[in-house]
Amino acid sequence: MSKIELSSITKMFGPVCAVQDVSFRVAEGAFVSILGPSGCGKTTLLRMIAGFEAPTAGEIRIENLPVSHLPPWKRNVGMVFQSYALFPFMTVFDNIAFGLRMRGLNRAETEKKIEDVLKVVGLSGLEERYPRQLSGGQAQRVALARAIVYRPEVLLLDEPISNLDARLRDEMRFELQRIQSETGVTTLFVTHDQSEALAISDSIIVMNNSVVRQIGSPEEIWAAPRTRFVADFVGVENIFDGTLAEAGGIRGFRVGAFDGEAPVLPCPAEHGAVTAVGIRGRDIRIVDRELDGHVTVPGRVLGTNYLGHERAYEVETRFGEKPLTVVLESMRAIGETVLLGLPHDKFLWLTDD
Ligand code: ATP
Repeated sequence: MSKIELSSITKMFGPVCAVQDVSFRVAEGAFVSILGPSGCGKTTLLRMIAGFEAPTAGEIRIENLPVSHLPPWKRNVGMVFQSYALFPFMTVFDNIAFGLRMRGLNRAETEKKIEDVLKVVGLSGLEERYPRQLSGGQAQRVALARAIVYRPEVLLLDEPISNLDARLRDEMRFELQRIQSETGVTTLFVTHDQSEALAISDSIIVMNNSVVRQIGSPEEIWAAPRTRFVADFVGVENIFDGTLAEAGGIRGFRVGAFDGEAPVLPCPAEHGAVTAVGIRGRDIRIVDRELDGHVTVPGRVLGTNYLGHERAYEVETRFGEKPLTVVLESMRAIGETVLLGLPHDKFLWLTDD
């Protein structure tokens, strides 16, 4: 059964359309990310599920019950904000106790729940600290503890780790996963960081300009982005516009910058209105001759970036107006001429957004 279901949700702020006709389902116990650039409507979507904003149109269901008419405190949804929003003049204990007291729990029940939740988030012993006496990571955990202490059905996380430094962020990714699997709470996690979404989610909803562009598992989104925007957002370095073309009765795709003598790339019929082709730098190889199942194209190395165990090269070719990015483990000299092999089965066929 779906824990959360959105049907054709739209949100207007005056003339601004923040969310447009968004529909998706989240399965019970799933960890789902909403991924997209700043301003695409992620926070607004979360705030509507939490009950802080009302949709202009459409329906939100939690556990199959419409909730649009319910205020936030009647939805059994926990939310962690990007800013944490801890009460500065309350201790950790009182920050977490606040929601429990609102729900009418007595002192003994409150103490027991707070003791348990602080164990879950790894903060036992810090009950009497004030927010200013906490590190960023600790404050983040208090915000999380406050959201999960009353065992919500649904946990909404709005970029909860984006304020942390890189090392703490990595640590918190594992922590979030652990806490989510220990509590089993259905979680919607908002982020603009594709590597974060790929790392921790069961499923990813990619948004741009207030619209959902693709929904899939991290593996699907990584390996088979369907639109130009999604491919670009998940780091496909080489994307070329072009047009569908017929060559000898075979459906193909002609990259825009090519002239008449350019090869037509074989484009399988199941890919509809293709307007661009993409290929990852890691999928391009250096070859010594024309190979079956490859487009081979000569090129000249223009520059290189060291990435650690491999290097990214910029290679000028006839393939498009801009150079190809090619990621290789081997060393190549600037100015060197190379023959590149682009495997047909690594082409990503992309439609407009
Ligand atoms: P970020 O990652 O920067 O937080 P976001 O993807 O969460 O961005 P939203 O905060 O949902 O995006 O905003 C979506 C759009 O709606 C933006 O154009 C924003 O300016 C607009 N918007 C959000 N809240 C309001 C409001 N209360 N009044 C008017 N416009 C708003």
